[in-house]
Amino acid sequence: MRTVKIDELDFFIHGKNHYLLEVAGERLPITTISGGSGERICFTAGQHGNEWNGIRTLLLLREKLPEKINGTIIILPTINPPAFLLKQRTGPDGIDMNRIYPDHMESNTGRLGNLLYSKIFEKHDYLIDIHSGGPGTFIPHVRVPKEEDVHYGRYFLFEHIWVRLEKEGLIAPTIRKLGVRSCTIEIGGGRRVEIEIVEKCLHGLLNFLKKRGVIPGHFREPGNYEIYHNRVIPKVEHMGFLKVAVKLGDKVEKGQVIAMLKRFEPGDEKILTSPCEGTVGYVRREAAVVPGDSVIHIFT
Ligand SMILES: [Zn+2]
Repeated sequence: MRTVKIDELDFFIHGKNHYLLEVAGERLPITTISGGSGERICFTAGQHGNEWNGIRTLLLLREKLPEKINGTIIILPTINPPAFLLKQRTGPDGIDMNRIYPDHMESNTGRLGNLLYSKIFEKHDYLIDIHSGGPGTFIPHVRVPKEEDVHYGRYFLFEHIWVRLEKEGLIAPTIRKLGVRSCTIEIGGGRRVEIEIVEKCLHGLLNFLKKRGVIPGHFREPGNYEIYHNRVIPKVEHMGFLKVAVKLGDKVEKGQVIAMLKRFEPGDEKILTSPCEGTVGYVRREAAVVPGDSVIHIFT
């Protein structure tokens, strides 16, 4: 496969093209598809090296898309190879790639992310970035930076949409300030490929591209979905083993039992209760916990 330096990349070569992109001393796979004067859409995954569902989804999208489109699509399935090599959230420098935008250049991770940001991401109409949970599983949902972004974000056909207020350094809200519409998609858990979730996400990405008129075909109108504006994350205060008592998508009441904790100190199991009402959007899968670990995320 041909290697292309990031400064020499041409988005607009007609048809479907696969390269290895050379950037900040790394090489990462990139696919460009171009034709016509339609919108420019960039898909990314793998900012965190332990989140594989998004990477798998984009490998499928790359195969599935036609050669002839109206617009430009860039697919970057795994943008943080040092983190993927370790199968961890971050690479060897320990810097979280989704906290460094738009200008942290003092680490390898920062340079890699921000060169992609300035030379590729910000030249698009849309940036769609896919993530998963870590030691727990997210209900498949889309996050949009602003209320007004729901109107396009809902075409990914997820039943849950979270309008997330700005947070420092994250790619989606940061690039949104430049006028690039952006979504973060969260699907499933870390360190696994969950094919049902991957296929659901792929279906959503294709529906979105049809709605935007970039690929041919009839798009589906979204069904019912819930919108959230906040989340509450109850934390564990002791070392031990956790057994969660609720499921993804459950509605919980304030005071409802959400988990039992078997502490390492002798004594009864500790009962953990919900601090508020809301929808369970994330459930911890890994039983071992230490102080500060999350139990569930409650979307409100
Ligand atoms: Zn992530």
